Formats: sequence, C-alpha cells, structure tokens
Amino acid sequence: MTLLSGKNALIFGVANERSIAWGIAKAFHAQGATLGFSYAGELLERRVRPLAESLGSTFIEPCDVARDEDIQQVADKASAAFGQIDILVHSIGYAKAEELEGPYYRTSRDGFHLAMDISVYSFTALAGAFQPILRPGGALLTLTYYGAEKVAPNYNVMGVAKAALEASVRYLAYDLGPRGVRVNAISAGPIRTLAASGVSGFKDMYRHFHRLAPLQQNVTIDDIGGTAVYLCSDLSARVTGEIIYVDSGYNILGFPIPPCD
Ligand code: NAD
Repeated sequence: MTLLSGKNALIFGVANERSIAWGIAKAFHAQGATLGFSYAGELLERRVRPLAESLGSTFIEPCDVARDEDIQQVADKASAAFGQIDILVHSIGYAKAEELEGPYYRTSRDGFHLAMDISVYSFTALAGAFQPILRPGGALLTLTYYGAEKVAPNYNVMGVAKAALEASVRYLAYDLGPRGVRVNAISAGPIRTLAASGVSGFKDMYRHFHRLAPLQQNVTIDDIGGTAVYLCSDLSARVTGEIIYVDSGYNILGFPIPPCD
C-alpha cells in the first residue's frame, strides 16, 4: 500500500524535465497515484507528452489558464476520464521578462494584470471549475516563493502576485474546508527552471543560496515532490490553508551570513 494509491491527480505546469511540476509528478507516481497532465499549449506538447507517458498517463490535455473556456474543457474531459479528482496541482507562474528587472515601480499596468491573471487568478479559476468533481478528502496545491513576504530584488510583480496567491490559498481553504477539500502551498527555495531563468540575477542568487541557508544545500524538484506527497496524502489530513517552506531553512534567517571557509 502506497500513500497515494487509488487517488487521481491532475498536474498543471510541466514544461520540461526541470519543472517543479515534474518533480511532483514523479513523487506522486512512486506513491501509486493515477496521473493526468495539462500543459500550456501546443508548442509544449512535444516535451510534455513523452514525459507524461513515461509515468503511464494517458490524460494529456492542453490548457491556457488565461482562457476560461480552456479550463472548463479540461475539467469536462477530466470528469469524463476520471469521474472524480483527488488532487490538483497548480505549478504555474508567468510575468513578462521586462517586469522582472529594475525597480518595481516601473511595472506596467498590462504587465501587472498579466502576472496576476496567470500566476494568481488561474488557481482560483481552477478551484472553481474543478470543485464539482473534487472528492471529499481531496487536496489542491500551488507553488509560491519567499518573495511574497520579503523583497527579493528583481522579483517585483511576481512577489506581489505570490502574496496574492498565498492569500488565495487561505480563502480557498476556507471555502472548500466544509467539503473536506484541503488547500495548501509549498514555498520553494530557488531551483533552476525555465520560469526562474526569466528573473534577472537569478543565477547569482542561486549560486549563493546554498552557502546562506541553514541546511547549506540547494533545493531540488525531488525535495518539492516529497513535501507535495505529504500535503496531498492523508498524512496531512488536518492541514489546510498553510504555506510550507521547502527552502533548506532560508526563511528562518533574519540576517543571512555565509559560513567561514
Ligand atoms: P517552469 O517554467 O518549469 O513552470 C512554469 C509553468 O507555468 C510552465 O509549465 C508553463 O508552461 C506554465 N504556464 C505559464 N503560462 C501559462 C498559461 N497561460 N497557461 C498554462 N500554463 C502556463 O518553472 P517552475 O520553476 O517549475 O515553476 C512552477 C511554479 O513554481 C511557478 O509558480 C513558480 O513561480 C514557482 N516557484 C518556482 C521557484 C524556482 O526557483 N524555480 C521557486 C518558488 C516557486
């Protein structure tokens, strides 16, 4: 008996084998979940389909989360394919590259709306569309970053978006709690992915991170996968509305100092 056997999990946000969503998918598969995947658009299918098939998945559907009709279509198809869903993972974020450098006050109105739409509202929209087929005892999970709470230079509008996403986690947890559905987020330390490479200065931040964090190690997508299994299995049956850090302890520091060589 594995921790997720008998559970259907839908994973939004695999772009390639470096994606955090892929680390989560592998961990779920190892724990016996039946997986379905949704990817951003036709361009990504070539990468996502073979990955999904390697974990035995046959449900592989495109969905641009900026489009309500795409979201509804995936929900309808998931209902037909699985009946009910136990787990939904939202591992999606986007802001224009020009918003992720320089001062935050230069954020454009368009750029602000786009980042909030793709990175925040989409989680709420997915929760709404899938709510009729979420099985009691189910779990929703999203991914956030410490830049929601403290200033991370260049993270800018994404930091503001993550703050709103974390608030959404709490409101959704309140809404869905009476139905026995839990909603949580993982706040991940820096990981080298496609999305992260869009943040100006990310490489430097990544390079220094393991020297500053208490555990002195970088975070991997497999580390995130392990905590995702906890948050989406009955191990965390009474945990909801929480932001769980998987960041080698970085967030506990008031004043990071590199260790002496
Ligand atoms: P990634 O680039 O692999 O994943 C981002 C995903 O968002 C991609 O699959 C992309 O296709 C998807 N996406 C973007 N726009 C979309 C749209 N309109 N419709 C559907 N999907 C769309 O990078 P990642 O680092 O794995 O990012 C996953 C999540 O983790 C994001 O929310 C990110 O902010 C968060 N996160 C990342 C880090 C890090 O250091 N990599 C740290 C903390 C949190």
